[in-house]
Amino acid sequence: MSSAPVFGDAAAIKAARKRPCRGPVWATRYGAGPVDETCATCVHLLRRDFAKRYYKCGLRDTASDATDIRKKDPACLRWGSRDPVACMERFAAMVEADPRR
Ligand code: SF4
Repeated sequence: MSSAPVFGDAAAIKAARKRPCRGPVWATRYGAGPVDETCATCVHLLRRDFAKRYYKCGLRDTASDATDIRKKDPACLRWGSRDPVACMERFAAMVEADPRR
């Protein structure tokens, strides 16, 4: 079994966000997801095209800019792969790493 961390560190995630954005880093609220993934690779990512392009989490989609996300934001605990087989493998690894999650 690998000893490499599977989940990110919430404090480090918040500190790593370089540009301001009104929306929260969901990984700091709902728990960090896989360390090597971002919202850009998540099945829940939504793109909203108006005068500008906005990204939203499909699990928390509102019309407010307070729920905008960045594609580069680290994955939260609800991250899901677009590939169902990879998603099941990732979930098994997460449960093995911390059965309380
Ligand atoms: S569910 Fe996916 S898109 Fe939504 S905040 Fe988590 S990682 Fe990002």
